[in-house]
Amino acid sequence: SMNKFGVHALVWSGSWEAEKCEYAVSSTKEAGYDIIELPAFEPAEMDIGALQKALEANEVEATFSLGLGFHNDINSEDPDSVARGEATLNDALSMARDLGGKYLGGVIFSALAPYDHQPTAVSRANSQAVIGRLADKAKASGITVGLEFVNRYESNLLNTSAQTVEYIREVGSDNLVVHLDSYHMNIEENDFRQPVVDAGDLLGYVHIGENHRGYLGQGHVNFPELFQALVDAEYDGVITFESFSSKVVDDNLTTTLRIWRDMWDNSMDLAVQARRFMGEEMAKAGAK
Ligand code: MN
Repeated sequence: SMNKFGVHALVWSGSWEAEKCEYAVSSTKEAGYDIIELPAFEPAEMDIGALQKALEANEVEATFSLGLGFHNDINSEDPDSVARGEATLNDALSMARDLGGKYLGGVIFSALAPYDHQPTAVSRANSQAVIGRLADKAKASGITVGLEFVNRYESNLLNTSAQTVEYIREVGSDNLVVHLDSYHMNIEENDFRQPVVDAGDLLGYVHIGENHRGYLGQGHVNFPELFQALVDAEYDGVITFESFSSKVVDDNLTTTLRIWRDMWDNSMDLAVQARRFMGEEMAKAGAK
């Protein structure tokens, strides 16, 4: 197929000193992937020079993702929180630019956290204003911005593909795309085809994850239906495998995502199996 395949960095490592950067990027290549998706929460904690070197040496591209927290939530009525969130997103954009990235996405429109209240008209408008400015800045650098809707326990603002399309239309930027994730679709959508149809031309990035975030095919996500929908939509963008285990720990992500269990302990075995699984599903769906 024309699609590029990626693997989330947390399959390999939760810390980013030089040798971990080299290990994660070279393992990405070795497992058969074109792209590594790097966490962009705290670029200052990562060895950007080592990443740059490893990406070039292994001819691997990087995409970038993050989720905001309550302290820097842009889906908030508190102007200080919104300003902190915008600064975080601008730092992430700089990191993507420095590493030659073409994509920045994730739960960047709200906190990635369990809200105990509905969004308000003001918090939503604040979110959209920041995302509109981020999309404009990113466009100047050739970087597309993706909004990853997530399940109700991880955001109160965007839980479905249709909601994400509506949010993007309201912002009015042509540099925003819908980012689908099968793990979240499994919880919030009716099936795995309609969200692809709902996203339409705005579909720009796909996360492939099992319902328990472990090995693909062991759980109950209807991957044949999803891959058929992607092929039918002639989706030619990035498809990234996302999986988490308590084996690989990142302070930002593993507690936020409630990764309490060891879903796997051999990163390479997991990544190779996932790459084969996704390729086979694409082929079964008739991808050219
Ligand atoms: Mn995801």
